[in-house]
Amino acid sequence: MSWVVEIDERTMLMAELCFVILGLIIGSFLNVCIARIPCQESIVFPNSHCPHCGNPIKAYDNIPLLSYLLLLGKCRSCGQRISWQYPAVEALTALTFCVTFVLLGFNLKAIILLVFFSSIIILIFIDLNHRILPDVITLPGVLFGLLFSLLTPVQDSTAEFILSSLGLATSNAIFISFINSFLGVLICGGFLWLVAEIFFRVRKMEGLGFGDIKLMGMVGAFLGMKLALLTIMLGSMMGAVIGLLFIKLAGKDARYELPFGSFLGIAAIISALWGHRLISDYARTLHGS
Ligand SMILES: [Zn+2]
Repeated sequence: MSWVVEIDERTMLMAELCFVILGLIIGSFLNVCIARIPCQESIVFPNSHCPHCGNPIKAYDNIPLLSYLLLLGKCRSCGQRISWQYPAVEALTALTFCVTFVLLGFNLKAIILLVFFSSIIILIFIDLNHRILPDVITLPGVLFGLLFSLLTPVQDSTAEFILSSLGLATSNAIFISFINSFLGVLICGGFLWLVAEIFFRVRKMEGLGFGDIKLMGMVGAFLGMKLALLTIMLGSMMGAVIGLLFIKLAGKDARYELPFGSFLGIAAIISALWGHRLISDYARTLHGS
């Protein structure tokens, strides 16, 4: 008797829709975290209220995405504009949840990635708004990344390579996974720290904050060294292209501080979902086959 469950197209579509709805609900909660964590307010109490008039937002006006559209982006009480960020965060979270389900299915690995992505989305928008990456997210992020590596393997061949070079080859998958996570923290956090230090010595100004370094420690812990290095590469490229374009178009000063953490965050999501494919495609192009 076969236990393989045949999933027809309609069931799959329903499952995807469930993940979109789950993403919208979680995204709505992430909005609360994005608004309150930088002000060190509780993320549980009080209920949502309008930032302009302070009136509590009624449950029927707090439906993710839908309420924003129905209210035409304005508060029902005072008529002031509601930031575009609320629906943007909800839509981005829903999209990320749905794509994760389509690419990975529903399993422990996917659940861990959804926790990772949710934390990253909070960091992307807090950095965009305040140019900070709060320790209350990045430091527990490093710890949880290391712990989760004991539950599902961090796919990266660096640990096997280093262990066997040292004559310490082992077949203990959990140990290898943990070392991969640990090397991700050490090498990526360390690499960015070195870049920051050199930049500071050469330019006599801070180009990279410690928040970025801790963020990369967290990305390394969850994804391992290779995908974290890919994240730094993609994030820097995006930062250079989009950032410089923005400075030019918006007529900002060249010393305008870019939200590098936001670019790293977007790059981390892309790397986690498509990184291994990107790396193997790139390697194939290099070898000309
Ligand atoms: Zn209002």
